[in-house]
Amino acid sequence: MNRYDLKDKVAIVTGARRGIGEGIALKLAANGARVVVTDIDENDCQKVVDKIATAGGRGLALKLDVTDEKNIKNVIDRVSETYGRIDILVNNAGIFAQGELDKMETSVIDRILNINLRGLILCSKYVIPIMKKQNYGKIINIASIAGFVSFDISSIYCATKGAIVNLTRELATELARFKINVNAVAPGVIETPMTGNLLANNEVSKALLNKIPYGRVGTPQDIANAVAFLASDDSEYMIGHTLVVDGGWIAQ
Ligand code: NAP
Repeated sequence: MNRYDLKDKVAIVTGARRGIGEGIALKLAANGARVVVTDIDENDCQKVVDKIATAGGRGLALKLDVTDEKNIKNVIDRVSETYGRIDILVNNAGIFAQGELDKMETSVIDRILNINLRGLILCSKYVIPIMKKQNYGKIINIASIAGFVSFDISSIYCATKGAIVNLTRELATELARFKINVNAVAPGVIETPMTGNLLANNEVSKALLNKIPYGRVGTPQDIANAVAFLASDDSEYMIGHTLVVDGGWIAQ
């Protein structure tokens, strides 16, 4: 449904070949945005762009590994040259990993920090000068309820998501005078490939459902709806906010 006016806005979504990122890309395109679908696997991104085109929207598939600073810079330059502007950046790429800290390989810790936090910071860093010149922009970070409450043996993941909530608040105050809105969405448990293994386990799935007053896990569309709102001018006066979309998990 075309609920928000994103007509001709140019949006970049990271980690968008599947899951929540794909849902966000489809939603922004359905609301009129030209969406640059990015992820490590460009072929999968093209499949999302094909879906966008089939639905009558416009998109572009580009490879973007958020751990690769040069790749980030090149993609942002290319999008800026192609469309002449960048209105919306959705920092969605992220990985989840559980493990007791003392038993975690340092390389795994580095990987989570690099993708979930450093990647988001660098994508923002390179898009901000373009948004400043436009005196307009929306940066939407995908955090997690794990940024607010503990989530079963996943300290590094929780640390990155808590940092995203704080970064969102701080960066938002820094950029508000340039009419750049920085906000975040904190999903609860959403049915995607990331949670596939957890939800396939009946016991785990039941335990998770018990924590959700609304009685179901979320869908990528639930998150995409919130992102579309934050990407639109309907949320113009929202600055540094993290919108929790979790079926009531942390409200209990
Ligand atoms: P997903 O299905 O695993 O999708 C994440 C995408 O990000 C994958 O395509 C993944 O590619 C990609 N990615 C990984 N490393 C990347 C990198 N270096 N550069 C660019 N892309 C990269 O996960 P999801 O559930 O949709 O999660 C999306 C976001 O929502 C994440 O930030 C996650 O933390 C957050 N979130 C999810 C949930 C949930 O319940 N699903 C809850 C709260 C927050 P590969 O498959 O190749 O790694």
